[in-house]
Amino acid sequence: MLPGGIQHQGSLRRDYDFRPLTGEVEMGLAEAVARARDLPGQVTLALQAALAHVGGRQPDAAVIDGMSVGDRQFLMTRLAGVLGLDQVWLTASCRHCGEPFDFPLNYDRLPVKPAGSGFPDAHISTERGMLTLRVPNGMDQRAVLGIAGMQLARQTLAKRCVTAWDGGDLSTLELDAGEVTAIEAALESVAPEIATEVMAPCPECGAENRVGIDPYFCLGRVSQDLFGDVHRLASHYHWSEAEILVMPRWRRHRYLALIDRSRGMMQ
Ligand SMILES: [Zn+2]
Repeated sequence: MLPGGIQHQGSLRRDYDFRPLTGEVEMGLAEAVARARDLPGQVTLALQAALAHVGGRQPDAAVIDGMSVGDRQFLMTRLAGVLGLDQVWLTASCRHCGEPFDFPLNYDRLPVKPAGSGFPDAHISTERGMLTLRVPNGMDQRAVLGIAGMQLARQTLAKRCVTAWDGGDLSTLELDAGEVTAIEAALESVAPEIATEVMAPCPECGAENRVGIDPYFCLGRVSQDLFGDVHRLASHYHWSEAEILVMPRWRRHRYLALIDRSRGMMQ
């Protein structure tokens, strides 16, 4: 279940399914990383390639871009599980004794904060009237990427998230610093979130360390062996690339193991 959800036919839906993992899906993920110019774009293309549906809707770019940041991060951690990367070893340096250490991380078990009531909308009242807000999505992330300067980026993001103002014409609304902070707080209270930090004990000195987690970790790990797999299967069985890519990954790996075994027998 998505921690937030998307609107479909008048209701908030939180269900989703990934496609079975075939070479085609893996190729789509590899292309997502290669084609998109920025991280939010990579996430959108990757989820488009990997999802069968989200909330009963086709995972087209507009749907995925319109999902809340928390839902997009959540889906990327679940995609790590689909790719067999749900449990990984990460490295950190202890902040107390300075020793580097490894610790295991289960992406499937990262704590999730579900959306608050009213999601995806929130409201705040200001001296100038009531503002209706919606939580930030993938399009918003992309829109503020190129903005140099933290203050301007925060202001631009806050303004994008205002969907209605009962005190005047929304296009003329200029937010002051206090309103930006109030908008951020209101959005944080309804936005779904996935943990982006975990506590890891240092095996040397026992101190607890707060370690940052990359929810998009699996993007950098997709399908590095895919081209090699296709090459070996095509050379051995003379199947076409398309025939190989429609195969589920487990079947591809089974055939590769058979090729290895027959090689072993010949040597
Ligand atoms: Zn330590």
